[in-house]
Amino acid sequence: MAYDDQNIFARILRGELPAIKIYEDDQVLAFMDIMPQADGHALVIPKTPAISLLDLPADAAAYTIQIVQKIAKAIETGLDAKGIVLMQLSGTAAGQTVPHVHFHLIPSSVHELGRHAAQMGDQEKIKVLAEKIKAAL
Ligand code: AMP
Repeated sequence: MAYDDQNIFARILRGELPAIKIYEDDQVLAFMDIMPQADGHALVIPKTPAISLLDLPADAAAYTIQIVQKIAKAIETGLDAKGIVLMQLSGTAAGQTVPHVHFHLIPSSVHELGRHAAQMGDQEKIKVLAEKIKAAL
């Protein structure tokens, strides 16, 4: 399957759609999930156009995971998270809904996760959580 450059995250990367951003550099963007499975649910995406982890070049994967760790630490500190679920869905068969590779960071327990991509969050509340994460970066 070819990479679809009209997918939602590609459009966010080009600035065509809004996002509540928490971190950006030349290779990676992190922003808040619009339908959080728990308060503080964030996404980290490489800027490399890859559909899933399976087609992401190894050097981009290696760099992205460093930023995943950086954001996880900021979530732990900024939101006083007791635990963080790192989730990465590769393929629609796994439940992947957006065909641009991304890592979910969800301050929660695997036993308490809300339903995946099911309900829009309160965007004002999400903005407040984003500010707390940013302040801890
Ligand atoms: P996945 O199903 O693993 O591909 O996850 C896609 C995630 O992107 C879901 O958790 C959605 O809630 C989230 N999502 C979809 N559209 C947006 C958007 N415009 N901004 C932020 N998150 C989004």
